[in-house]
Amino acid sequence: MPALPAFARYVVIGAGIHGLSTAMHLAQKLKAKGLSVGEGGARIVVLDKTGPGAGASGIACGVVRNNYFQPAMRELMAHSVSVWESDPDAYSYHPVGYMQISPEVMHAQVGTIYEQQQAIGYESVFIEGEGDSRQYMQGIFHDWQAQNITSVLHEKRGGYANNQASVQGLVNKAQALGVEIFAGVAVTGFRSANGTGAIAAVETTQGRIECEVVIVAVGPWVNTIWNMLDLPKTISVTGRDGKVHDGVRMWHYMALQEGTLGVDPNYQKTNAGLMPPVIHVDTDAPLYSDRDGRLITDALWGIYYKPDFHFGGVQGGAMPAVVERDPDDVRVDPYGPKSPEFVVTDNFADMWTSALAFCQKRFEGKHGVYKQEPSGGVGSFTPDNFPVFDRFRDNVYVIADSNHGYKMIGVGELVADELLGTPRALLEPFRFSRYAQGRLHPVSHSPFPWS
Ligand SMILES: Cc1cc2nc3c(=O)[nH]c(=O)nc-3n(C[C@H](O)[C@H](O)[C@H](O)COP(=O)(O)OP(=O)(O)OC[C@H]3O[C@@H](n4cnc5c(N)ncnc54)[C@H](O)[C@@H]3O)c2cc1C
Repeated sequence: MPALPAFARYVVIGAGIHGLSTAMHLAQKLKAKGLSVGEGGARIVVLDKTGPGAGASGIACGVVRNNYFQPAMRELMAHSVSVWESDPDAYSYHPVGYMQISPEVMHAQVGTIYEQQQAIGYESVFIEGEGDSRQYMQGIFHDWQAQNITSVLHEKRGGYANNQASVQGLVNKAQALGVEIFAGVAVTGFRSANGTGAIAAVETTQGRIECEVVIVAVGPWVNTIWNMLDLPKTISVTGRDGKVHDGVRMWHYMALQEGTLGVDPNYQKTNAGLMPPVIHVDTDAPLYSDRDGRLITDALWGIYYKPDFHFGGVQGGAMPAVVERDPDDVRVDPYGPKSPEFVVTDNFADMWTSALAFCQKRFEGKHGVYKQEPSGGVGSFTPDNFPVFDRFRDNVYVIADSNHGYKMIGVGELVADELLGTPRALLEPFRFSRYAQGRLHPVSHSPFPWS
C-alpha cells in the first residue's frame, strides 16, 4: 500500500456510502472548476480502518424509498433517488418501486406523504379503504392476505441496491477521479490548530496527516470520533412542547433485525411474473407464530421484504431492538454479523417468518427454510432519530445519518457543495442547532424510528 501523504486538503474518515459519495462528488466538482485532484493538486484522501463497505453500508438491506412522514426527509430522499437512477448499473440499483402498506392508525399520515409526493413530482399511487387495498394487493400477488390494512402507498420510483456492489461502484468512480483510498488505516485522534478550535491534523495508525478539512462519515462508530473531537456527550433539546430537556445523550444505539428466507428469489414474483416492489407492511392485527400458533404480539408491528439474488432468498427485516446502554459501553466491533452480541435471535426468525406468512399465503409453513446464519448489526441514532449534517470545530464536517442512510447516496453531492462554499437548502433542516432551537422533525405513528 502506498504511504499516507503528509498533507491532504480533504481527509475523509470512513469508506461507506457517505464518505465515498462525498469524496467522489467533491472530486467531480473540483474538476468541473478546472482544478486537479490528487498529487500536485487538491488531494482527497479517504481513510478506513478496515476497508470500503466494512461498516453498515456493506451489510445494509439496501432499500431505497421516499416514504417518510417528515417533509425534509422526503425532499432529501427524492434527491438521492435521482443519484441512484443516474447510473443504476454502476450502483447495482434495482428500480422496482416500494410499497408502504398500512393500518388505519397510519392512514391519514400516509395520505399526507402521498399528497406531498405529488407536490414534489415523485410518482406514486395511493389506495384507500380495506377492500380496495386488498384488491390492489391481490392484483400484484394473488395470495395477498394481510389483515387490518386500509391504505397502500405505491411508490413507482425507488427499490433497492446491492450493498457491497454499490460501495464498489462508488470506489471505482472516486478512484477514477483521483480520490486516494487507504484501507487498514484507523483514525486515533486529532491535533488542534494553535489557538483555534480547528483541526490541523488527523492522527492515524499509519502516522499523521495534516489537512484543511476533515469529513467524518463513520456510521455506527460516530460516538468514538465524536469523543475524540471533544464534542458534548449530552445536549439540551427543546422539545415540541417548548420545554428544554437537559442531559439528553447525543448518541444511542439500536440493533437492526434482518434475515433471509432461503427460497428461490423467483418465488416472490408478481402475478405478471415480474420482480416485485419492496414490500413494507405495518399493521395492528395480532401476529401468531407460523410455527406453533402462539401469539407473538398484539401491538402495532411491521416488516419489510424483497426477493434478492445477492442475499440468496427473500430478505428483509423488522423493527430494531433498542440497545439500553451508555453509548461508550456499546461494543461496535467486531461489526455486523461478526458481532457476538448484536446479531438476530430465534425470536426475530419466528416473528419475521410468521409475518411473511401473515402477508402472503406462499410463505405459510416456510419458517424451516429461514437461513440460520448471523445477520443484523447496530446503528447509531441521534436524539430525535434524524440525521445531523453539520460543521463542528470550524473545519470538521460530520455526516451522521442516524441509520437512515444507505438510501441517501445523494447526501455526498450536497455536502461536497457545502465544502466548496455553496450552502444547500436540502441539508438545512438537519443542522445540530435544531436541538437547542426546538426545530424538530414531526414524528409519525409508524413502529419504526426512521419513517
Ligand atoms: C442491518 C442494517 C440494514 C440496513 N438497511 C438499510 C436499508 O435498507 N436502507 C437504508 O437506507 N439504510 C439501511 N441501513 C442504514 C445504513 O446502512 C447506514 O445508515 C449507512 O450505511 C451508513 O453509512 P456511512 O457511510 O455513514 O457508514 P458506514 O457504512 O458504517 O461506514 C463507516 C466506515 O467508517 C470506518 N471507520 C470507523 N471508525 C473509523 C476510524 N476510527 N478510522 C477509520 N475508519 C473508521 C468503518 O470501517 C466503516 O467502513 C441499514 C443498517 C443496518 C445495520
